[in-house]
Amino acid sequence: MTQEAFKKEQTLEMRKKLIGQSCRLFFSHDPVKIVRAQGQYLYDENGTQYLDCISNVQHVGHCHPSITKAATVQMELLNANTRFLHDNIVQYADRLAATLPSKLCVFYFVNSGSEANDLALRLARQYTQNEDVIVLDHAYHGHLTSLIDISPYKFRKLEGQKEWVHVAPIPDTYRGLYRRDHLDPAQAYAEEVKNVIDDVLKKGRKISAFFVESLPSVAGQILLPPGYCQKVAQYVRAAGGVFVADEIQTGFGRVGSHFWAFQLQGDDFCPDIVTMGKPMGNGHPLACVVTTEEIAGAFTANGVEYFNTFGGNPVSCAIGLAVLDVIEKEDLRGNAVRVGNHLIKLLRQLQAKHPIIGDVRGVGLFVGFELVKDRMALTPATEEAALLVRRLKEKHICLSTDGSWDNVIKFKPPMCFSIEDTERVTEQIDHFLTEIENGLQDTNNKNE
Ligand code: PMP
Repeated sequence: MTQEAFKKEQTLEMRKKLIGQSCRLFFSHDPVKIVRAQGQYLYDENGTQYLDCISNVQHVGHCHPSITKAATVQMELLNANTRFLHDNIVQYADRLAATLPSKLCVFYFVNSGSEANDLALRLARQYTQNEDVIVLDHAYHGHLTSLIDISPYKFRKLEGQKEWVHVAPIPDTYRGLYRRDHLDPAQAYAEEVKNVIDDVLKKGRKISAFFVESLPSVAGQILLPPGYCQKVAQYVRAAGGVFVADEIQTGFGRVGSHFWAFQLQGDDFCPDIVTMGKPMGNGHPLACVVTTEEIAGAFTANGVEYFNTFGGNPVSCAIGLAVLDVIEKEDLRGNAVRVGNHLIKLLRQLQAKHPIIGDVRGVGLFVGFELVKDRMALTPATEEAALLVRRLKEKHICLSTDGSWDNVIKFKPPMCFSIEDTERVTEQIDHFLTEIENGLQDTNNKNE
Protein backbone atom coordinates (compact mmCIF):
# COMPACT_ATOMS: atom_id res chain seq x y z
CA MET A 1 0.00 0.00 0.00
CA THR A 2 1.30 3.46 -0.88
CA GLN A 3 0.91 6.26 1.66
CA GLU A 4 -1.98 8.71 1.41
CA ALA A 5 -1.18 11.69 -0.83
CA PHE A 6 0.02 14.89 0.88
CA LYS A 7 -1.36 18.35 0.28
CA LYS A 8 1.00 20.31 -2.00
CA GLU A 9 2.20 22.58 0.85
CA GLN A 10 3.03 19.53 2.94
CA THR A 11 4.98 17.91 0.09
CA LEU A 12 6.94 21.15 -0.33
CA GLU A 13 7.66 21.38 3.37
CA MET A 14 8.84 17.78 3.59
CA ARG A 15 10.95 18.17 0.47
CA LYS A 16 12.63 21.21 2.01
CA LYS A 17 13.39 19.24 5.16
CA LEU A 18 14.39 15.90 3.64
CA ILE A 19 15.84 16.50 0.18
CA GLY A 20 19.16 18.23 -0.56
CA GLN A 21 18.51 21.84 -1.48
CA SER A 22 20.86 21.64 -4.47
CA CYS A 23 18.24 19.36 -6.07
CA ARG A 24 16.10 22.11 -7.59
CA LEU A 25 12.51 22.21 -8.78
CA PHE A 26 11.10 23.71 -11.97
CA PHE A 27 9.28 27.01 -11.26
CA SER A 28 10.82 27.36 -7.81
CA HIS A 29 8.56 30.32 -6.86
CA ASP A 30 5.50 28.08 -7.32
CA PRO A 31 6.41 24.51 -8.26
CA VAL A 32 3.85 22.31 -9.97
CA LYS A 33 2.96 19.03 -8.32
CA ILE A 34 2.42 16.51 -11.08
CA VAL A 35 0.59 13.32 -10.16
CA ARG A 36 0.02 11.68 -13.55
CA ALA A 37 0.82 12.13 -17.22
CA GLN A 38 -0.10 10.86 -20.66
CA GLY A 39 1.57 11.61 -23.99
CA GLN A 40 2.69 15.27 -23.90
CA TYR A 41 0.30 16.25 -21.09
CA LEU A 42 0.96 16.46 -17.36
CA TYR A 43 -1.77 16.66 -14.71
CA ASP A 44 -1.47 18.27 -11.29
CA GLU A 45 -3.17 17.20 -8.06
CA ASN A 46 -6.33 19.13 -9.03
CA GLY A 47 -6.52 17.53 -12.47
CA THR A 48 -5.27 20.67 -14.27
CA GLN A 49 -3.55 19.80 -17.54
CA TYR A 50 -0.11 21.20 -18.44
CA LEU A 51 1.44 21.07 -21.92
CA ASP A 52 4.90 19.54 -21.54
CA CYS A 53 7.42 21.13 -23.93
CA ILE A 54 10.51 20.01 -22.01
CA SER A 55 10.43 16.30 -21.12
CA ASN A 56 12.83 14.86 -23.67
CA VAL A 57 13.26 11.75 -21.49
CA GLN A 58 9.65 10.64 -21.93
CA HIS A 59 10.53 10.38 -25.61
CA VAL A 60 7.57 8.44 -27.03
CA GLY A 61 5.15 10.09 -24.59
CA HIS A 62 4.53 9.86 -20.85
CA CYS A 63 3.27 6.47 -19.67
CA HIS A 64 3.05 5.01 -23.18
CA PRO A 65 1.03 1.76 -22.85
CA SER A 66 3.47 -0.27 -25.01
CA ILE A 67 6.39 0.68 -22.75
CA THR A 68 4.46 -0.02 -19.55
CA LYS A 69 3.38 -3.39 -20.94
CA ALA A 70 6.90 -4.40 -22.05
CA ALA A 71 8.23 -3.53 -18.58
CA THR A 72 5.47 -5.38 -16.72
CA VAL A 73 5.66 -8.53 -18.87
CA GLN A 74 9.44 -8.79 -18.41
CA MET A 75 9.31 -7.93 -14.70
CA GLU A 76 6.89 -10.80 -14.15
CA LEU A 77 9.26 -13.19 -15.93
CA LEU A 78 12.84 -12.35 -14.96
CA ASN A 79 15.13 -9.50 -14.04
CA ALA A 80 18.64 -10.74 -13.38
CA ASN A 81 22.05 -9.23 -14.06
CA THR A 82 23.99 -9.55 -17.30
CA ARG A 83 26.30 -12.32 -16.09
CA PHE A 84 23.41 -14.68 -16.89
CA LEU A 85 23.05 -15.31 -20.63
CA HIS A 86 19.84 -13.69 -21.94
CA ASP A 87 18.33 -12.79 -25.33
CA ASN A 88 17.14 -9.24 -24.56
CA ILE A 89 20.57 -7.64 -24.33
CA VAL A 90 21.80 -9.06 -27.63
CA GLN A 91 18.51 -8.42 -29.43
CA TYR A 92 18.57 -4.83 -28.23
CA ALA A 93 22.24 -4.28 -29.16
CA ASP A 94 21.49 -5.73 -32.61
CA ARG A 95 18.56 -3.33 -33.13
CA LEU A 96 20.68 -0.36 -32.03
CA ALA A 97 23.53 -1.46 -34.31
CA ALA A 98 21.15 -1.26 -37.28
CA THR A 99 20.72 2.49 -36.62
CA LEU A 100 24.48 3.17 -36.49
CA PRO A 101 27.40 3.13 -38.95
CA SER A 102 28.78 -0.45 -39.12
CA LYS A 103 32.04 0.60 -37.44
CA LEU A 104 30.15 1.29 -34.18
CA CYS A 105 29.33 -2.24 -33.15
CA VAL A 106 30.37 -2.97 -29.54
CA PHE A 107 27.90 -2.00 -26.79
CA TYR A 108 28.11 -1.44 -23.03
CA PHE A 109 24.84 -0.88 -21.19
CA VAL A 110 24.73 1.41 -18.16
CA ASN A 111 22.09 3.31 -16.13
CA SER A 112 22.56 7.00 -16.81
CA GLY A 113 24.09 9.44 -19.23
CA SER A 114 26.78 10.23 -16.67
CA GLU A 115 27.75 6.57 -16.38
CA ALA A 116 27.94 6.39 -20.17
CA ASN A 117 30.23 9.43 -20.46
CA ASP A 118 32.43 8.25 -17.60
CA LEU A 119 32.86 4.90 -19.33
CA ALA A 120 33.57 6.69 -22.63
CA LEU A 121 36.36 8.55 -20.84
CA ARG A 122 37.81 5.28 -19.55
CA LEU A 123 37.59 3.67 -23.01
CA ALA A 124 39.29 6.65 -24.65
CA ARG A 125 42.08 6.72 -22.09
CA GLN A 126 42.68 2.99 -22.21
CA TYR A 127 42.78 2.95 -26.01
CA THR A 128 44.94 6.04 -26.51
CA GLN A 129 46.98 5.71 -23.32
CA ASN A 130 46.63 9.49 -23.13
CA GLU A 131 44.88 11.57 -20.48
CA ASP A 132 43.84 14.98 -21.74
CA VAL A 133 40.35 15.91 -22.93
CA ILE A 134 39.11 18.76 -25.11
CA VAL A 135 35.55 20.00 -24.66
CA LEU A 136 33.51 22.90 -25.96
CA ASP A 137 32.83 25.94 -23.83
CA HIS A 138 29.54 25.84 -21.85
CA ALA A 139 29.28 22.05 -22.32
CA TYR A 140 27.66 19.72 -19.79
CA HIS A 141 28.47 16.01 -19.88
CA GLY A 142 27.22 14.72 -16.52
CA HIS A 143 27.25 14.87 -12.74
CA LEU A 144 30.04 12.41 -11.79
CA THR A 145 33.32 13.89 -10.52
CA SER A 146 35.07 12.95 -13.78
CA LEU A 147 32.35 14.71 -15.80
CA ILE A 148 32.08 17.88 -13.73
CA ASP A 149 35.80 18.11 -14.59
CA ILE A 150 34.97 18.11 -18.33
CA SER A 151 31.85 20.31 -18.08
CA PRO A 152 32.73 24.04 -18.27
CA TYR A 153 29.06 24.79 -17.50
CA LYS A 154 29.70 23.32 -14.03
CA PHE A 155 33.41 23.64 -13.28
CA ARG A 156 33.43 27.37 -14.00
CA LYS A 157 31.19 27.76 -10.92
CA LEU A 158 33.42 25.53 -8.77
CA GLU A 159 37.13 25.24 -8.07
CA GLY A 160 38.01 25.59 -11.74
CA GLN A 161 39.66 23.77 -14.56
CA LYS A 162 41.87 20.68 -14.21
CA GLU A 163 45.22 20.74 -16.01
CA TRP A 164 44.14 17.82 -18.24
CA VAL A 165 41.02 19.62 -19.49
CA HIS A 166 41.11 22.06 -22.40
CA VAL A 167 38.25 24.20 -23.67
CA ALA A 168 37.59 25.15 -27.30
CA PRO A 169 35.12 27.86 -28.35
CA ILE A 170 31.52 26.88 -28.94
CA PRO A 171 30.74 27.02 -32.69
CA ASP A 172 27.87 29.43 -32.19
CA THR A 173 27.27 31.18 -35.51
CA TYR A 174 24.76 33.59 -33.95
CA ARG A 175 26.85 35.22 -31.23
CA GLY A 176 30.17 33.32 -31.26
CA LEU A 177 33.64 34.12 -32.63
CA TYR A 178 32.65 33.39 -36.24
CA ARG A 179 29.11 34.13 -37.37
CA ARG A 180 26.78 33.41 -40.27
CA ASP A 181 28.46 36.04 -42.44
CA HIS A 182 31.78 34.14 -42.18
CA LEU A 183 32.80 32.29 -45.34
CA ASP A 184 33.58 28.98 -43.64
CA PRO A 185 32.62 28.88 -39.93
CA ALA A 186 33.13 25.08 -39.78
CA GLN A 187 36.77 25.45 -40.80
CA ALA A 188 37.31 28.50 -38.59
CA TYR A 189 35.92 26.78 -35.47
CA ALA A 190 37.77 23.53 -36.28
CA GLU A 191 41.01 25.58 -36.51
CA GLU A 192 40.28 26.78 -32.96
CA VAL A 193 40.28 23.14 -31.82
CA LYS A 194 43.53 22.60 -33.75
CA ASN A 195 45.06 25.57 -31.89
CA VAL A 196 44.02 24.02 -28.57
CA ILE A 197 45.60 20.69 -29.64
CA ASP A 198 48.84 22.46 -30.65
CA ASP A 199 49.01 24.20 -27.25
CA VAL A 200 48.44 20.89 -25.44
CA LEU A 201 51.19 19.16 -27.43
CA LYS A 202 53.58 22.08 -26.82
CA LYS A 203 53.11 21.55 -23.08
CA GLY A 204 54.24 17.93 -23.55
CA ARG A 205 50.72 16.60 -22.87
CA LYS A 206 48.66 14.23 -25.08
CA ILE A 207 45.04 14.13 -26.18
CA SER A 208 42.83 11.17 -25.31
CA ALA A 209 39.48 12.52 -26.48
CA PHE A 210 37.41 15.34 -27.86
CA PHE A 211 33.93 15.25 -26.26
CA VAL A 212 31.07 17.07 -27.93
CA GLU A 213 27.29 17.02 -27.92
CA SER A 214 26.15 16.48 -31.51
CA LEU A 215 23.89 19.52 -31.07
CA PRO A 216 25.06 21.41 -27.97
CA SER A 217 21.97 21.83 -25.82
CA VAL A 218 22.96 23.29 -22.46
CA ALA A 219 24.95 25.86 -24.45
CA GLY A 220 21.64 26.91 -26.07
CA GLN A 221 20.61 24.68 -29.01
CA ILE A 222 23.72 25.35 -31.07
CA LEU A 223 23.75 23.76 -34.53
CA LEU A 224 27.29 22.67 -35.35
CA PRO A 225 28.23 24.09 -38.79
CA PRO A 226 28.17 21.29 -41.43
CA GLY A 227 31.60 19.71 -41.85
CA TYR A 228 32.84 20.82 -38.41
CA CYS A 229 32.97 17.32 -36.91
CA GLN A 230 34.84 15.81 -39.89
CA LYS A 231 37.55 18.47 -39.63
CA VAL A 232 37.82 18.26 -35.84
CA ALA A 233 37.92 14.44 -35.93
CA GLN A 234 40.80 14.64 -38.39
CA TYR A 235 42.82 16.94 -36.10
CA VAL A 236 41.97 14.98 -32.94
CA ARG A 237 42.85 11.60 -34.49
CA ALA A 238 46.09 13.00 -35.94
CA ALA A 239 47.02 13.96 -32.37
CA GLY A 240 46.30 10.40 -31.16
CA GLY A 241 42.86 11.08 -29.65
CA VAL A 242 39.34 9.80 -30.30
CA PHE A 243 36.09 11.61 -31.09
CA VAL A 244 33.26 11.09 -28.57
CA ALA A 245 29.75 12.15 -29.63
CA ASP A 246 27.44 12.75 -26.66
CA GLU A 247 23.97 11.89 -28.01
CA ILE A 248 22.37 11.76 -24.57
CA GLN A 249 19.86 14.50 -25.41
CA THR A 250 19.93 14.39 -29.19
CA GLY A 251 19.70 10.69 -30.11
CA PHE A 252 16.81 8.37 -30.97
CA GLY A 253 15.33 10.46 -33.78
CA ARG A 254 14.88 13.70 -31.83
CA VAL A 255 16.22 15.63 -34.87
CA GLY A 256 13.70 13.84 -37.11
CA SER A 257 15.60 13.54 -40.38
CA HIS A 258 18.21 11.25 -38.81
CA PHE A 259 18.28 8.76 -35.96
CA TRP A 260 21.44 10.36 -34.51
CA ALA A 261 22.24 14.06 -34.54
CA PHE A 262 25.88 13.40 -35.54
CA GLN A 263 24.45 12.15 -38.86
CA LEU A 264 23.41 15.77 -39.62
CA GLN A 265 27.11 16.30 -40.36
CA GLY A 266 26.95 13.93 -43.35
CA ASP A 267 27.52 10.27 -44.26
CA ASP A 268 31.28 10.73 -44.27
CA PHE A 269 31.37 11.32 -40.51
CA CYS A 270 31.51 8.62 -37.86
CA PRO A 271 32.54 9.22 -34.23
CA ASP A 272 34.79 6.69 -32.45
CA ILE A 273 32.52 6.49 -29.39
CA VAL A 274 28.85 7.45 -29.01
CA THR A 275 27.08 7.83 -25.66
CA MET A 276 23.30 7.68 -25.33
CA GLY A 277 20.83 7.90 -22.44
CA LYS A 278 17.84 10.05 -21.54
CA PRO A 279 15.20 9.01 -24.17
CA MET A 280 16.43 5.45 -24.41
CA GLY A 281 14.18 3.98 -21.69
CA ASN A 282 11.35 6.58 -21.87
CA GLY A 283 12.01 7.38 -18.20
CA HIS A 284 13.40 4.03 -17.10
CA PRO A 285 17.13 4.41 -16.26
CA LEU A 286 18.83 3.05 -19.36
CA ALA A 287 21.95 4.35 -21.09
CA CYS A 288 24.70 3.02 -23.29
CA VAL A 289 28.12 3.43 -24.85
CA VAL A 290 28.88 2.11 -28.33
CA THR A 291 32.33 2.00 -29.85
CA THR A 292 34.56 0.30 -32.39
CA GLU A 293 36.08 -3.18 -32.10
CA GLU A 294 39.58 -1.66 -31.76
CA ILE A 295 38.65 0.60 -28.83
CA ALA A 296 36.63 -2.13 -27.10
CA GLY A 297 39.52 -4.56 -27.72
CA ALA A 298 41.96 -2.29 -25.89
CA PHE A 299 39.53 -2.05 -22.96
CA THR A 300 39.23 -5.85 -22.81
CA ALA A 301 42.99 -6.29 -23.08
CA ASN A 302 43.62 -4.57 -19.75
CA GLY A 303 42.22 -7.71 -18.14
CA VAL A 304 39.78 -5.89 -15.84
CA GLU A 305 36.17 -7.04 -15.97
CA TYR A 306 33.51 -4.42 -16.67
CA PHE A 307 30.50 -5.26 -14.53
CA ASN A 308 27.51 -3.00 -14.03
CA THR A 309 24.92 -4.41 -11.60
CA PHE A 310 21.82 -2.97 -13.27
CA GLY A 311 23.09 -2.03 -16.72
CA GLY A 312 21.56 -4.04 -19.59
CA ASN A 313 19.22 -6.12 -17.42
CA PRO A 314 16.33 -7.94 -19.18
CA VAL A 315 13.72 -5.38 -18.06
CA SER A 316 15.78 -2.40 -19.23
CA CYS A 317 16.43 -4.03 -22.59
CA ALA A 318 12.76 -5.01 -23.03
CA ILE A 319 11.86 -1.38 -22.45
CA GLY A 320 14.58 -0.21 -24.85
CA LEU A 321 13.25 -2.54 -27.54
CA ALA A 322 9.69 -1.29 -26.98
CA VAL A 323 10.86 2.34 -27.34
CA LEU A 324 12.46 1.51 -30.72
CA ASP A 325 9.23 -0.22 -31.82
CA VAL A 326 7.08 2.79 -30.91
CA ILE A 327 9.42 5.24 -32.67
CA GLU A 328 8.98 3.16 -35.84
CA LYS A 329 5.30 2.24 -35.56
CA GLU A 330 4.14 5.77 -34.75
CA ASP A 331 6.58 7.38 -37.21
CA LEU A 332 7.80 9.69 -34.48
CA ARG A 333 10.76 10.81 -36.58
CA GLY A 334 8.35 11.89 -39.31
CA ASN A 335 6.29 13.67 -36.66
CA ALA A 336 9.42 15.44 -35.37
CA VAL A 337 10.11 16.73 -38.89
CA ARG A 338 6.54 17.89 -39.57
CA VAL A 339 5.80 19.38 -36.15
CA GLY A 340 9.35 20.73 -35.64
CA ASN A 341 9.27 22.52 -39.02
CA HIS A 342 5.85 24.00 -38.20
CA LEU A 343 7.10 25.19 -34.82
CA ILE A 344 10.16 26.82 -36.40
CA LYS A 345 7.91 28.50 -39.00
CA LEU A 346 5.61 29.90 -36.29
CA LEU A 347 8.55 31.09 -34.18
CA ARG A 348 10.10 32.80 -37.23
CA GLN A 349 6.79 34.62 -37.77
CA LEU A 350 6.98 35.78 -34.15
CA GLN A 351 10.61 36.82 -34.73
CA ALA A 352 9.43 39.08 -37.59
CA LYS A 353 6.94 40.70 -35.18
CA HIS A 354 8.91 40.83 -31.92
CA PRO A 355 12.38 42.43 -31.99
CA ILE A 356 13.18 40.66 -28.70
CA ILE A 357 13.47 37.33 -30.57
CA GLY A 358 17.01 37.53 -31.91
CA ASP A 359 17.30 34.02 -33.29
CA VAL A 360 15.29 30.86 -33.88
CA ARG A 361 17.25 27.65 -34.39
CA GLY A 362 16.94 23.93 -34.16
CA VAL A 363 16.06 20.79 -36.01
CA GLY A 364 13.23 18.30 -35.52
CA LEU A 365 11.77 18.62 -32.03
CA PHE A 366 14.92 20.23 -30.63
CA VAL A 367 14.28 23.93 -31.07
CA GLY A 368 15.33 27.10 -29.28
CA PHE A 369 14.68 30.80 -29.62
CA GLU A 370 17.03 33.37 -28.18
CA LEU A 371 15.83 36.58 -26.54
CA VAL A 372 17.96 39.71 -26.87
CA LYS A 373 17.47 43.26 -25.68
CA ASP A 374 19.09 44.60 -28.81
CA ARG A 375 19.53 42.78 -32.12
CA MET A 376 22.81 44.57 -32.94
CA ALA A 377 24.54 44.27 -29.55
CA LEU A 378 22.90 40.84 -28.88
CA THR A 379 22.56 41.77 -25.19
CA PRO A 380 20.96 38.69 -23.58
CA ALA A 381 17.38 39.30 -22.37
CA THR A 382 17.77 36.96 -19.41
CA GLU A 383 15.11 38.45 -17.10
CA GLU A 384 12.61 38.62 -19.95
CA ALA A 385 13.24 34.95 -20.77
CA ALA A 386 12.63 33.97 -17.12
CA LEU A 387 9.50 36.12 -17.04
CA LEU A 388 8.18 34.55 -20.25
CA VAL A 389 8.68 31.05 -18.82
CA ARG A 390 6.82 32.04 -15.63
CA ARG A 391 3.95 33.60 -17.57
CA LEU A 392 3.62 30.51 -19.79
CA LYS A 393 3.47 28.32 -16.72
CA GLU A 394 0.52 30.39 -15.48
CA LYS A 395 -1.16 29.32 -18.75
CA HIS A 396 -0.21 25.71 -17.98
CA ILE A 397 2.62 25.43 -20.51
CA CYS A 398 5.98 24.08 -19.29
CA LEU A 399 9.07 25.51 -20.99
CA SER A 400 12.57 26.22 -19.71
CA THR A 401 15.59 28.39 -20.45
CA ASP A 402 19.12 27.40 -21.35
CA GLY A 403 22.28 28.83 -22.87
CA SER A 404 25.18 30.68 -21.24
CA TRP A 405 22.92 33.58 -20.24
CA ASP A 406 19.72 31.58 -19.73
CA ASN A 407 18.12 33.57 -22.52
CA VAL A 408 17.35 30.68 -24.88
CA ILE A 409 13.87 29.21 -24.53
CA LYS A 410 14.06 25.55 -25.29
CA PHE A 411 11.62 23.06 -26.81
CA LYS A 412 12.42 19.36 -26.39
CA PRO A 413 8.96 17.83 -25.87
CA PRO A 414 7.87 14.21 -26.02
CA MET A 415 8.02 13.22 -29.70
CA CYS A 416 4.21 12.94 -29.97
CA PHE A 417 3.95 16.76 -29.71
CA SER A 418 1.35 17.96 -32.23
CA ILE A 419 0.76 20.81 -34.67
CA GLU A 420 -2.07 22.01 -32.35
CA ASP A 421 0.37 22.06 -29.43
CA THR A 422 2.77 24.29 -31.41
CA GLU A 423 -0.09 26.67 -32.19
CA ARG A 424 -1.27 26.79 -28.58
CA VAL A 425 2.18 27.60 -27.25
CA THR A 426 3.19 30.14 -29.93
CA GLU A 427 -0.10 32.05 -29.49
CA GLN A 428 0.71 32.44 -25.82
CA ILE A 429 4.33 33.41 -26.54
CA ASP A 430 3.04 36.08 -28.92
CA HIS A 431 0.68 37.40 -26.25
CA PHE A 432 3.29 37.53 -23.47
CA LEU A 433 6.05 38.99 -25.64
CA THR A 434 3.69 41.82 -26.58
CA GLU A 435 3.05 42.32 -22.87
CA ILE A 436 6.77 42.22 -22.03
CA GLU A 437 7.63 44.62 -24.87
CA ASN A 438 4.97 46.99 -23.59
CA GLY A 439 6.88 47.05 -20.34
CA LEU A 440 4.40 45.28 -18.07
CA GLN A 441 6.10 44.50 -14.81
CA ASP A 442 6.53 41.05 -13.42
CA THR A 443 4.43 40.44 -10.34
CA ASN A 444 6.72 37.81 -8.97
CA ASN A 445 10.22 38.33 -10.24
CA LYS A 446 12.12 35.83 -8.17
CA ASN A 447 14.54 33.81 -10.20
CA GLU A 448 13.73 30.23 -11.36
N1 PMP B 1 25.24 14.61 -21.27
C1 PMP B 1 24.29 15.50 -21.61
C2 PMP B 1 24.40 16.23 -22.91
C3 PMP B 1 23.19 15.71 -20.78
O1 PMP B 1 22.26 16.60 -21.12
C4 PMP B 1 23.11 15.00 -19.57
C5 PMP B 1 21.94 15.21 -18.61
N2 PMP B 1 21.37 16.45 -18.61
C6 PMP B 1 24.12 14.10 -19.24
C7 PMP B 1 25.16 13.92 -20.12
C8 PMP B 1 24.07 13.31 -17.95
O2 PMP B 1 23.04 12.39 -17.98
P1 PMP B 1 22.39 11.82 -16.60
O3 PMP B 1 21.71 12.96 -15.93
O4 PMP B 1 21.46 10.73 -17.11
O5 PMP B 1 23.50 11.26 -15.80
